[in-house]
Amino acid sequence: MSAPESFPAAPAGRAEPSRAAPGGGSEPAAAPVTVRALVARGAGAALRIEQVRLPAPGPGEVRVAIRAAGVCHSDLSMVNGTLAARFPLVLGHEATGVVAETGPGSRLAVGTPVVLNWAPACRACWWCRHGEPWLCAATTAPTVARGETDDGTPLHLTLGLGALAEAVVVPDGAVIPIPAGLPPEQAALLGCAVLTGTGAVRNTARVAPGESVAVIGLGGVGLAVLAAARRAGATTILAVDVAEAKRDLALAAGATDFLLSDERLSKEVRARTEGRGADHAFECVGRAATIRAAWRLTRRGGAVTVVGMGAKDDMVSLGALDIFHSARTLRSSVYGSSDPDREVPVLAAELAAGALDLGVLVSGTLPLDDAPSAFDRLARGEGARWVVTLD
Ligand SMILES: [Zn+2]
Ligand SMILES: [Zn+2]
Repeated sequence: MSAPESFPAAPAGRAEPSRAAPGGGSEPAAAPVTVRALVARGAGAALRIEQVRLPAPGPGEVRVAIRAAGVCHSDLSMVNGTLAARFPLVLGHEATGVVAETGPGSRLAVGTPVVLNWAPACRACWWCRHGEPWLCAATTAPTVARGETDDGTPLHLTLGLGALAEAVVVPDGAVIPIPAGLPPEQAALLGCAVLTGTGAVRNTARVAPGESVAVIGLGGVGLAVLAAARRAGATTILAVDVAEAKRDLALAAGATDFLLSDERLSKEVRARTEGRGADHAFECVGRAATIRAAWRLTRRGGAVTVVGMGAKDDMVSLGALDIFHSARTLRSSVYGSSDPDREVPVLAAELAAGALDLGVLVSGTLPLDDAPSAFDRLARGEGARWVVTLD
């Protein structure tokens, strides 16, 4: 809307007017920053890169210059109306960057590499005090009002982050320090897909060595589940998708078999599990039909873990006798039933040591200007994770 020359030539995520102010004396007042961001103006509307204004970091807050941000299916669900969202909305909630500015009292230092956490735990509510910080009562809003667009319209941020942007301004609790030198396009995934997928296997389902696992839906999260199942020692790892094109990706991520999701699926799974069905099924789509499919292909006494986030009016129907007789467990895994503050550093250390290779999850990197095309690819089910990188 405004003339481009009204914006600083340098990326605003790095520009820092107040810190650059020369002379001593009292701290100059921190100023809002203008950054480029991927904005949705409404459900179904075309995505655009816009200039948006973010406030200066307040007490206990930081501004993080984004280095890389993944495009996650939940972002797509915000855009296509599956999840209720407020607009205009900055997309993105899976990212890595560097602390560029600190507000008063922040515990972080400028220059610290970090991963963003879309569910910072308050550490005070009932769930936080009972060891379930992923269910924290303070982190339920899918969109949070913050900042404004270039024309002065109040802006909303996906999961309080809005990470598909040159910078974010967030509370200290929403950033997790990581070692320097990690590949940004891989480190970004630690904040959603990898933490979610790994946590679903390690924390929620507690997959044990020798067990059989079926994974339905091979996006970034599903592929992360496959890789984590392999690392947990599962010996039969069945990857399931509607797209044959996912076969090679699935096998590279750790699957022992690839199966097409069709009417023969349960039979194919039983043929590979001595006729019983899988010990574990992970549903990584978020649809009633695939939850039903996961239920059917699991053995008697097995466990179905729902990782995908579905729509509230998509009802799952199960027979009462079947529920009793099958003795299966059906549960969901929210953010991998994980404590990101504790588990992201573990995963980052594994990545740094080469014990965790996320290369197979990254289908490609693109500049922020091309971020809308990454949403098109995601909607078509192409590849694993598309990651926007910024200098
Ligand atoms: Zn996500
Ligand atoms: Zn809490």
